[in-house]
Amino acid sequence: MPKLIKERVPTPERPVEERIKDFDEVNLGYTWELALKEAERCLQCPVEYAPCIKGCPVNINIPGFIKALRENKDNPRKAVKEALRVIWACNSLPAITGRVCPQEDQCEGACVVGKVGDPVNIGKLERFVADYARQHGIDDELLMEEIKNIKKNGKKVAVIGAGPAGLTCAAELAKMGYDVTIYEALHEPGGVLAYGIPEFRLPKEILRKELKKLSILGVKIKTDHIVGRTVTIPELLKEYDAIFIGTGAGTPKLLKIPGINLNGIYSANEFLTRINLMKAYKFPEYDTPIIVGKRVIVIGAGNTAMDAARSALRLGAEVIIAYRRGEEDMTARIEEVQHAKEEGVKFMFFVNPVEFIGDENGRVKAVKFEKMKPLEERDSRGKRKIIGTGEYVTVETDTVVIAIGQTPNRIIWKTTPGLKVRENGTIVVDENLMTSIPGVFAGGDAIRGEATVILAMGDGRKAAKAIHEYLSKKSA
Ligand SMILES: Cc1cc2nc3c(=O)[nH]c(=O)nc-3n(C[C@H](O)[C@H](O)[C@H](O)COP(=O)(O)OP(=O)(O)OC[C@H]3O[C@@H](n4cnc5c(N)ncnc54)[C@H](O)[C@@H]3O)c2cc1C
Ligand code: SF4
Repeated sequence: MPKLIKERVPTPERPVEERIKDFDEVNLGYTWELALKEAERCLQCPVEYAPCIKGCPVNINIPGFIKALRENKDNPRKAVKEALRVIWACNSLPAITGRVCPQEDQCEGACVVGKVGDPVNIGKLERFVADYARQHGIDDELLMEEIKNIKKNGKKVAVIGAGPAGLTCAAELAKMGYDVTIYEALHEPGGVLAYGIPEFRLPKEILRKELKKLSILGVKIKTDHIVGRTVTIPELLKEYDAIFIGTGAGTPKLLKIPGINLNGIYSANEFLTRINLMKAYKFPEYDTPIIVGKRVIVIGAGNTAMDAARSALRLGAEVIIAYRRGEEDMTARIEEVQHAKEEGVKFMFFVNPVEFIGDENGRVKAVKFEKMKPLEERDSRGKRKIIGTGEYVTVETDTVVIAIGQTPNRIIWKTTPGLKVRENGTIVVDENLMTSIPGVFAGGDAIRGEATVILAMGDGRKAAKAIHEYLSKKSA
C-alpha cells in the first residue's frame, strides 16, 4: 500500500506587503524538488477509474503525468518532457490552466487523498511541468517533434475569436494539417486571458509564449478584425471550408437602478481592460488613464469581482466587495478569495444595490443597499434563494465596479442569417458543436454563457475533431 501523506507541499508565495504594491505574480510555483515531493503524495489510482481524470473537463491522464515525474527523479529534463507529452495529449495550454482552473471543483475536488487530507496539488504540478518546460526549451523541442508529423491537407478553416476556445481549436486543426486563420476583434489575442485576468494571476509573458507556439504551428492571427463589421460569416464561408465561432461572452450585464450613469461607475470589463490590456496602472508611461478613488466598491463575487478588487487595491484604494448572497455562495476560485482576504479586501454579504447616489458634479458618492436574507429553498444552480428584508444601508464611496456577469455579444448573429441563438444570446449547437449553419461550429462562452477556461478549451478541441470529421466526410 502506498504511504498516505495528508498535508500537501505548499507553494511559495510573495509576502502580502510586497505584492500589493505591484502587479507581479503572487504565487511562485513549485521548484523541481518541491514538485517531486508533492508528486510522491499521489496514490497512482488506475487510469480506468482515477477520479481526478474524471473530474478534469478534458480528462488529462493525471496519474500518468505525475508518474512521469516520479519515474525520472534523476533526470528532470526527461521527467518534464514525458509529463508534458502526456498533458499535451489533452490540453495545449497547461501553463494557463494550471494557474486559473478552479481545481477545487474539478480534478482536485475528486482526488481520493482529499477524502482524508489535502488533495494532491494537481494544478500546481501541471503548472510546474509547463513552466519548467518553457524555461528550459523543452516545450519547443516537443513542438518540433509534433511539427514533423504534420501533413498539410490544403483545406482552410477560419476561427473567430482568439480566446482559449479559438486558440485551442486553431492549434488542434493546425496539428491535423489545416490552414487556419484566426480573426480577432481586439489588437491583442488571448480573449479574457489578455484583457480580463490580471498579471498577478497570469503573467502576460506566459500568454505570449503560449501564443508563439501557434505561430510555429503555422496559425495566422488577424487582429483588429471584428467579424460582423470588418468581414461577415457569409463572406468568410466563400473563402473557408469551415468556421469555428469562439467569440466568448464579453458584453457586461449592468444594473438597471437609479444613478447607474454617474461618473466613477465602471463595468468590470472596462475597468480590467484598461488595467490589463491597456496597462493603465503604468499611466502616463502608457497613455490609457484609470481613475480610482479612495474607496472602491466592487459589486459581485465571482473571479471577475476578485480580479477587479485586487487590481483596485494595487492602485492604492480601500476596497469592499459587496455581494447579495453569503460567503459560501461566492463563485470565485478559493485561492483568489483567500488572496483577496490576505491583501485586505473587505467583504459585505447579503446586500443588494438599489441606488447609486451622486454628488453635485455627477460623480458617485455612495451606494444604497437593501439588506437581504437567505431562504431554505435553492435555485437551479443549488444556491440558496434570497429575499429583501426592507432594511437599507448606505455606504460612501467614490468608485464602483460592477461585476455581476457578462453575456455574448450579438453582433455575430445579427449579421449571420440562419444562425440559431437562444434568448440570452448563446449560440445553439448540436452534439458535435455544429451550429444551425452546416460547416459553422461554435464553442466556449459563446455557447455556454460565462463558464471556465478549461471548458472553452475542451470545446475548442472537440470542435476541431468534429470539423475534421465533417470535412473528411464532405470530400470522401
Ligand atoms: C475577469 C475574469 C476572470 C476570470 N477568471 C477565470 C478563472 O480564474 N478561471 C477560469 O476558468 N475562468 C475564468 N474566467 C472565465 C474564462 O475566462 C472564460 O470562460 C473563457 O475565457 C472563455 O473563453 P472563450 O474563448 O470562449 O472566450 P473569450 O476568452 O471571451 O474570448 C473571446 C475572444 O473573441 C473575441 N471576439 C468577440 N467577438 C468577436 C467578433 N465579432 N469578431 C472577432 N473577434 C471577436 C474577443 O475579443 C475575445 O478575444 C474569467 C473571466 C473573467 C472575465
Ligand atoms: S485521484 Fe489523487 S491520488 Fe488518485 S491518481 Fe488522481 S491525483 Fe493521484
